[in-house]
Amino acid sequence: MSDAETLFEKIIAREIPADVVHETDRTIAFRDINPQARVHVLVVPKTRYRHVAELTEADPALLAEVLGTAATVARLEGIAESGYRVVFNTESDAGQTVFHVHAHVLGGEQLGFFGS
Ligand code: 5GP
Repeated sequence: MSDAETLFEKIIAREIPADVVHETDRTIAFRDINPQARVHVLVVPKTRYRHVAELTEADPALLAEVLGTAATVARLEGIAESGYRVVFNTESDAGQTVFHVHAHVLGGEQLGFFGS
């Protein structure tokens, strides 16, 4: 993992503004700047790991907390019952652009199938 600070460290440190919808001691959730659905929130652990595989290996309890925050966000956004998707893009073929693990929480409308 590169030591270069990512955008998300700056958001966590409040050096860059973000529309924060929920925060815990170890996670932060804010709206994606380029939403791909009516609801599109990113859930980010405050400790940096490159992607979900690294997070899972290093701190499975923190992964569980990220998923718990995703469920809380879905409830707060009113999409827990209608349905939503949780996505972890992992490395370049999946389109990962920020190398600080994050879950995309997508919903608020009928989501299309995806894959290519
Ligand atoms: P990835 O492509 O790594 O899975 O997801 C990165 C996400 O970060 C993208 O969906 C992108 O729109 C979002 N993003 C990039 N820059 C910013 C920013 O400055 N603020 C916010 N809130 N989201 C950002």
